[in-house]
Amino acid sequence: MNEGICAKCAQATVYAVTADDNERALAISAFKAVLMTHFICTSCGYVEQYVLDPADRQKIEQKARLITPRQS
Ligand SMILES: [Zn+2]
Repeated sequence: MNEGICAKCAQATVYAVTADDNERALAISAFKAVLMTHFICTSCGYVEQYVLDPADRQKIEQKARLITPRQS
């Protein structure tokens, strides 16, 4: 999706919207939040969301619970 091609319908009609206000940011603690970017295909309506800023992803690593894969 972030290459400009829809992952579902393969059309080049992907638009990016970043919510840059605090109300729509993902709160990971009382004082930290990360910005979410939505990639939206206007042909089929498919949406993916990403945390694009590596510094924001680092905040998640510091604050959130890591999901450990189960051993089979
Ligand atoms: Zn699509």
